[in-house]
Amino acid sequence: MAERAPPPRGDGVGAGAHHGPSHDSTAGRRRGRFRRDRLPTPAEYFRQQGLKLTGGGGWKSAVCPFHDDTRPSLRVRLDRGAFRCMSCEAHGGDVLAFHMKRYGLSFIDAAKALGAWEER
Ligand SMILES: [Zn+2]
Repeated sequence: MAERAPPPRGDGVGAGAHHGPSHDSTAGRRRGRFRRDRLPTPAEYFRQQGLKLTGGGGWKSAVCPFHDDTRPSLRVRLDRGAFRCMSCEAHGGDVLAFHMKRYGLSFIDAAKALGAWEER
């Protein structure tokens, strides 16, 4: 019997993993540390990003900023900030992943932009 483990998901940053999806060798000087507790709340963050969230339940809907969306294809969770688009490939586990993807930032730069990076 072949066991088919589900493929590792790309949203490991939500689980406290330390490695980013792409380890970038130019970020050799990692002075500081990520402070997850300083991330904005998902509700606050997505509002700042201009997303209009609609719908009830655990997953809210919004027009997807990652493709030329005409209807709300993006689903987001306000508890963790996870997001997934039903039309394009965009998905992630938290607002940090959203910020990295939307602005093409590294993990650290996104953490800094969101005020969740503690310099040392
Ligand atoms: Zn999309």
